[in-house]
Amino acid sequence: MPEGDTVWLSCRRLNAALAGHVLTRCELRVPQLATTDLTGVGVREVVSRGKHQLFRFANGYTLHTHFRMDGTWRIFRHGRSWSGGQEFQIRAVLATAEHDAVGYRLPVVELVRTAEEHTVVGHLGPDLLGPDWDLDEAVRRIEAQPDRTIGEALLDQRNLAGIGTLYRAELLFLQGLHPRTPVGRVANLRRVVQRGQQLLAANRWRWEQSTTGDLRQGRSHYVFERPGQPCRRCRTRILTEEFGPRGQERRSYWCPHCQPAP
Ligand SMILES: [Zn+2]
Repeated sequence: MPEGDTVWLSCRRLNAALAGHVLTRCELRVPQLATTDLTGVGVREVVSRGKHQLFRFANGYTLHTHFRMDGTWRIFRHGRSWSGGQEFQIRAVLATAEHDAVGYRLPVVELVRTAEEHTVVGHLGPDLLGPDWDLDEAVRRIEAQPDRTIGEALLDQRNLAGIGTLYRAELLFLQGLHPRTPVGRVANLRRVVQRGQQLLAANRWRWEQSTTGDLRQGRSHYVFERPGQPCRRCRTRILTEEFGPRGQERRSYWCPHCQPAP
């Protein structure tokens, strides 16, 4: 599942390809936008907000998309064949004279007035990779629910925007915190959040996500998606479970020795 750093890089690439250009083709293949055509409209910029993508147009509208589980935006030189998935998985096509941007498997495709973007991203907490990243505000929001587990609090995009299950697992390992530790018992919360921001920032310029400093396949993570395998520090077997609010359970990974239960 794409996390904040992947979305950030996607939007940087989309911005480089589309910003300042006029759309020569626009297809939004969702029922509510089937008749909307932005052909001839200029693209102002493409920016990320947490894990959301915002395409801002010169006509005062913003296209809002989200990857959720496996969505992606792919960029192709105009005239090249597209290779991001099956034709029926395409939800959006935005083309300029030079590039085709094709959105595959996007569960969210909607158009809002740019002045009203808050209606789609206003609920988000500080964006870990945003120009307005606010560490104090993120810590304040997390601390407001001291009985909640740190594992749930870090995934809640209303607290801080950009962390998914990969960075949650790796960050908690690096901090020696069990995912179910109550927020109120995390002594160095500010440091935890700061480290999380650093992990995303360190990975944002590349598609690979490494928290170990090693980019090689199978060596890039400490605990994420390594259940049953030995901890890289103490050789204890990594554990996993799903937990979280009902209906929003997400998988966590931890070393029972390096991250003792609360
Ligand atoms: Zn360990």
